[in-house]
Amino acid sequence: MGALGIIRLSGPDTFRIVNDIFYGADLVKADSHTIHLGELRNEEGQVLDEALTFLFKGPKSYTGEDVIEISCHGSSYILQEVLDLCLRKGARPADPGEFTLRAFLHGRMDLTQAESVADLIASDNASSHAVAMQQMRGGISSEIKKLRQELIDFAALIELELDFSEEDVEFANRDALRKLILKIQKLIAALLESFRLGNAIKQGVNTVIAGRPNAGKSTLLNALLQEERAIVSEVPGTTRDTIEEVLHIKGIAFRLIDTAGIREAEDQVEAIGVQKTMTKIAESSILVYVFDVTDLRPEAVTADMARLHRPGLRILAVANKMDRYPYAEPSSYASEYLPAEDIIAVSAKNQMNLAYLKDRLYEAVVHEDLLLENPIVTNIRHVHALQKASESLDAVLAGLDQGITHDFIAMDIRQSLHHLGEITGEISTDDLLDSIFSRFCIGK
Ligand code: GDP
Repeated sequence: MGALGIIRLSGPDTFRIVNDIFYGADLVKADSHTIHLGELRNEEGQVLDEALTFLFKGPKSYTGEDVIEISCHGSSYILQEVLDLCLRKGARPADPGEFTLRAFLHGRMDLTQAESVADLIASDNASSHAVAMQQMRGGISSEIKKLRQELIDFAALIELELDFSEEDVEFANRDALRKLILKIQKLIAALLESFRLGNAIKQGVNTVIAGRPNAGKSTLLNALLQEERAIVSEVPGTTRDTIEEVLHIKGIAFRLIDTAGIREAEDQVEAIGVQKTMTKIAESSILVYVFDVTDLRPEAVTADMARLHRPGLRILAVANKMDRYPYAEPSSYASEYLPAEDIIAVSAKNQMNLAYLKDRLYEAVVHEDLLLENPIVTNIRHVHALQKASESLDAVLAGLDQGITHDFIAMDIRQSLHHLGEITGEISTDDLLDSIFSRFCIGK
C-alpha cells in the first residue's frame, strides 16, 4: 500500500487498451507527452479509481514503444482490479526486466546502461548511487565503443588485405595497430583494476576481526557499531561463534566478522571456533588484528602475524587497551608482516581513536587513483568479457611480433571485437539477455 501506484503498459496496443478503460479524454487522439485526468471504469461501468494517465508515443519513450503510465491510488485492491482489467483487454503481464529489455532491443540504451538500471534501483548509499548513475550515463561503454570502432576499422583493412593476398600488400599500418592495441589494453587494465573498488561498493568488503581471547575484539566491534551486539565477557574464548555486522564508512559497507580467539584451543568447542577464524580470514580481504598492549609481548604479535598473513590480505593491527597502558609504544610491535604505520593505538572501551581506525579502513579499500570520477566496473560479467578481450588482444600483439599471416591476426582481432561488443551489447545472444534481465524485478 502507498499513496500512489503506477501501472505501466508498453507496446503497439497500449493506447487502444487504456483508451478502452479510461474516461476523461480520447487518448488515441491526444498528443504524446501529455497528462490526462479521468476515471478508470470496468466493463460494468463501475468506477475503480480517479487516475492520471501519462502518454508517451514511441519512439520517444523509455522502451521506444508506445507507453502509458496509469497513476492510480496505491491500494493493492485498486491496482489489482486495474491490472486485471488491462489483462482482460488484451495486455499481458511483463516479464522481469522486460521494459528495460525492450528499451535495449529498441536501441534506447546499451547493455551496460540497462544493467545499471538494476544497480540504480538497488543503490542504498552515495557511492553505489554514484557508480550506477555514471554507468547509466554511458560511463564505461562510451570509451569501449570508441576504441572498438577504431579496431573495427583496422580489422576491415586487414580483411581487405586477405582479398589481395596474392599481391602481398599492407593496407593496415602495423605500428598504428600495435599502438591502438596498447591503448585498449591500458583501458582494460584500468577497468579491471577498478573492479576491486566497484565490487567493494556493490557487495561490501569482508572484514574479519581476530586476535587472542580477551584482546577486546567484541568490545571493539560493539564500539564500532555503537551498539551492544556481540557478547562481551571476562572469560577468555567465550565468543565462540562468529558474528557478522555491517559498518558503513563513507558509503562502503564493511561486513565485520568477529571471531573466536586464535590461540591454540584447549577444548573441542573452542577448536571449532578457531578453525572458523582461519576460514573467515581466508574469505576476507581485510583483517583487523586486535591485541592487548597490557598482555601481549611484541614476539607474540610477530608470531601471530607470521601465521595470519597471506598475499592479498590487508592487515590493520589494533593496539588495544591503551587506556590502561598509555606508555605502550605501538611501533615496537612492528615486524616483517606488520609495518609500524599499520598499527593503530586504540582503547575500544573508551572509544579512543576509533574515527582514525575507520579512516584507515576506508583507505584500505579506496585508493587515490580509484576516485569515483573514473569509470568503475561493478559487474562480474564485464570483468570476464574484459579479461577475454585482453587475452585476444595479447594474441594479436604476439602475432604481430612473430609476423604471422594476416588471416590469423584478423581472427584474433575478430575475437577481441566480439568480447568488447559483449560488454555494450553490440554482440548479444538470447541466453545472455535472458540471464541479465531475469534478475530484474517485474516492472523495471
Ligand atoms: P574478546 O575476547 O577479544 O572478544 O574480548 P572482549 O571484547 O570480550 O574483552 C575482554 C575484556 O577486556 C572485557 O572485560 C572488556 O571490557 C575489556 N576491554 C576491552 N577493550 C578494552 C579497552 O580498550 N580498555 C580496557 N581497559 N579494557 C578493555
